[in-house]
Amino acid sequence: MTREKLIKKFPYFATQDFSHAFDPLTDVFTRDVIKGYMQYLIDKKQPFSLFIADIDNFKYVNDGYGHKAGDSVLCSIAQFITDILGDRGVVGRYGGDEFLIISEGITDYNDVWKIGHDINMNIGNLRFADDALPSVTLSMGISRYPIDTKDYEELWNLADKALYRGKMKGRNCFIIYLESKHKNLDLKAKRDVAFSPMYLHAKVFNTLTETSNLGMAIKNQLHFLVTYHMYDHLCIETPSGMRFQLIHALSKHKQFESIDYNELVNIIDNSGLAYASKVSSYSSSMSEEFIKLLKKQSVVSAVYCRIGAFDKVYGYIRIDMTDTVRIWQTEELNLIIETARVIGLLLYYNNKTIEELDYGTVEIVGKE
Ligand code: GH3
Ligand code: MG
Repeated sequence: MTREKLIKKFPYFATQDFSHAFDPLTDVFTRDVIKGYMQYLIDKKQPFSLFIADIDNFKYVNDGYGHKAGDSVLCSIAQFITDILGDRGVVGRYGGDEFLIISEGITDYNDVWKIGHDINMNIGNLRFADDALPSVTLSMGISRYPIDTKDYEELWNLADKALYRGKMKGRNCFIIYLESKHKNLDLKAKRDVAFSPMYLHAKVFNTLTETSNLGMAIKNQLHFLVTYHMYDHLCIETPSGMRFQLIHALSKHKQFESIDYNELVNIIDNSGLAYASKVSSYSSSMSEEFIKLLKKQSVVSAVYCRIGAFDKVYGYIRIDMTDTVRIWQTEELNLIIETARVIGLLLYYNNKTIEELDYGTVEIVGKE
């Protein structure tokens, strides 16, 4: 949108001194302009939507390709959002890898959805000047004035909540805040508490002991992991080569083979974990051999986590992503590690093995 068009369409900008209005790196509006604009719309009781867009796993771009490359990606994305939005709104940069969109007059769910969809669908086609750079994705949280709230601060909180939900769902998506669905979500600031080691332990321990049937409790906890983080496939494998398909797999590919235990023992770390974020490129703690095996099974990202206690190894939690690439996040991995650790301890103290538990109806693969 040209400046003339902007002023004509959105009167607020006629009152603006443009000399300090733009972010020096990306040339979109600064956060202060966006905040002033929001306050102006609220004062005038003009409906609008607020989008907070955060680049997914941007640290990997910086870490892998350097900050200069990171900067150029930020510029390209700012331009991309501006272009795809057209006259449907105004773009700003909050700071870091976060962008803001204000869509004045657009609050109908379907219209907002269309904007989110356009951005998410097209960002994959964005190519950078440097061919070596990987494609990137965005997650977005969206709140609407006055549908969700009339309060300025609360509007930010709700968009932030929605964004957080999008990140936890696996990124590369947009979430329009809906009270009925998202009211009870924690805000970003509460995340640190929620994932502190003590809290995590208590939470996992409670779920795994809330019924006297350990098999069913394990099934519940794994079900929570799969639905919360949207895993394509999760199972428990035992060293005897049996796979306990405790949870219905979302993956289109169902032909998973058992893994090579001798190889796995070599690649797991002290907490019993081995992972590959994007099998073909990004960071991985797995060996070449292992990666080959995963590729053969159409797995694009994977996690293995040992279920053990003291000197005993009962099996592994195995997660395979086949449909969407996943860059594993620390808090997510910590939850998996804690789940495996507590299952290990409970098996140990109950003097049971994975094979001996009662899981109700369950598919077991590899049983003679
Ligand atoms: P997530 O998917 O959870 O958002 O993961 P992330 O790696 O993107 O994490 P987060 O959004 O927390 O991190 C943003 C990173 O953006 C941190 C910092 O290294 C980088 N960053 C912030 N500002 C700039 C900048 O101006 N230039 C460059 N190159 N990098 C920046
Ligand atoms: Mg980010």
